[in-house]
Amino acid sequence: MCIFCQIVSGEIPAKKVYENERVLAFLDVRPVNPGHTLVILKQHYRNLEEIPVLELQDLIVVVKKIGERLKARLNLEGYNVILNNGATAGQTVPHLHFHLIPRHRDDGYPTWLHVDYGSGEAEKMLEILKN
Ligand code: AMP
Ligand code: ZN
Repeated sequence: MCIFCQIVSGEIPAKKVYENERVLAFLDVRPVNPGHTLVILKQHYRNLEEIPVLELQDLIVVVKKIGERLKARLNLEGYNVILNNGATAGQTVPHLHFHLIPRHRDDGYPTWLHVDYGSGEAEKMLEILKN
């Protein structure tokens, strides 16, 4: 059983911020910033490809609710909502989860590094990705 399923079943303790029939939000044990919260479905799905759209809706409703709560109660200007989808993208726990990460001005975290497309590369990419 994965570690988040063990939290759901009660085998491993967690600091639960919110719970309903299908969704659980709890504090990340090693926060990027204090208040860093993880939001999961109680049902185990590994990634965005596996999760049915209707259940994703249940999950995103709670992401919004907890995001608003963090912002209000921690007096934040902003927070990151992150889903690391796949090990290459940084997913270490194979049970789909959203990170809600409180952010503060000058908290020292770098933003994404961006690169420029070379000549014609954006057009080639568009041919691959568009409908
Ligand atoms: P990710 O790298 O996106 O898979 O994120 C996994 C997150 O789970 C990390 O930020 C960990 O700190 C967190 N984590 C791992 N084990 C626990 C646990 N038992 N309780 C709370 N958070 C956990
Ligand atoms: Zn699981």
